[in-house]
Amino acid sequence: RVAVVGARGAVGREILNLLEERAFPLSELRLYSSARSAGRRVSFRGEELVFEELPESGDLQADIVFSSAGGSISRKHAWDWANAGATVIDNTSAWRLDDRVPLVVPEVNADAAREHNGIIANPNCSTIIALMALAPLHRAFGLQRATVATYQAVSGAGAAGVTELEQQSRAVLAGEPAETSVFQHVIAFNLFSHDSEVGEDGYNEEERKLLLESRKILAAPELRISATCVRVPVFRAHSEAIHAEFAQEVTPEMAREVLGAAAGVKLVDDPASNSFPMPITASGQDDVLVGRIRQDSSRPGSIALFVAGDQVRKGAALNAVQIAELFS
Ligand code: NAP
Repeated sequence: RVAVVGARGAVGREILNLLEERAFPLSELRLYSSARSAGRRVSFRGEELVFEELPESGDLQADIVFSSAGGSISRKHAWDWANAGATVIDNTSAWRLDDRVPLVVPEVNADAAREHNGIIANPNCSTIIALMALAPLHRAFGLQRATVATYQAVSGAGAAGVTELEQQSRAVLAGEPAETSVFQHVIAFNLFSHDSEVGEDGYNEEERKLLLESRKILAAPELRISATCVRVPVFRAHSEAIHAEFAQEVTPEMAREVLGAAAGVKLVDDPASNSFPMPITASGQDDVLVGRIRQDSSRPGSIALFVAGDQVRKGAALNAVQIAELFS
């Protein structure tokens, strides 16, 4: 018995697609939304399912709950659902750094999921995409330090972010004013520092998540990561430029060999044809694309690379469904 909370959102809809595509074993599927969407219908495996308003009660009568309606809903309900017997796979940031809650990327630390206490957290999308490349390199060479610059798609801010880029682009091309609602600044034909709160240290929340979540997932509390997170006018798939230093000197050939054999990673790295990871080719794919693997010219023995991954899919919905598959 599976429940999806926030099933009409960007991530919720992708979870439904994946449950169907991957023939996830289930006997019952309940879809929860806000009151706004209750009563609407969606087709799943040839059947019509109806979105229901999320009940206040703490028992969804489900074995697996995908929680994908935002942090405040997860903070309010997730432990009640878990205490009623469900395994909650939480896509929000509510419990990621809580010591009781494993933070899991199945290709990296599946074992941590098996020791859960009712909730398993899905990491932040930029963290998952970075670690799909960095974790195999860490296992092989001992990651010590990474510098990350992100280029994040508007769908990372949900379905409404996609509508905003669409509407603003049409308005700008028609010579009309671009109206903002989801993002503080105009995103069409622009980019800006990630629209999350900036702390006293000058880092925004997205940048802090990349640091703290990577340390937890890799069980590397001393790991040094510095990030600059940027929202760009791309509909789907986040890209990241990463510079990484290891406990030993690493050549591009060594990195390429490790990444070429890594699960969930696809090498796209052909300088002759200028063929490298792009959000447009990463969209809709399960694999995270990795390329531009080269020596970091500022520090010989270190590696520079570029990744692109579908953040609605591997950065959220696919990662969550893969976690559920560990128990199916
Ligand atoms: P979204 O497109 O805005 O969808 C959120 C959904 O939550 C909406 O469909 C909404 O339902 C539902 N909802 C709102 N209030 C509710 C309530 N009181 N009860 C039940 N449902 C309610 O957002 P999203 O992008 O899917 O993100 C969902 C979560 O995943 C967020 O915590 C986000 O940070 C996280 N996440 C997102 C991404 C991404 O790439 N988008 C990646 C990683 C993690 P209605 O349709 O009825 O309004």
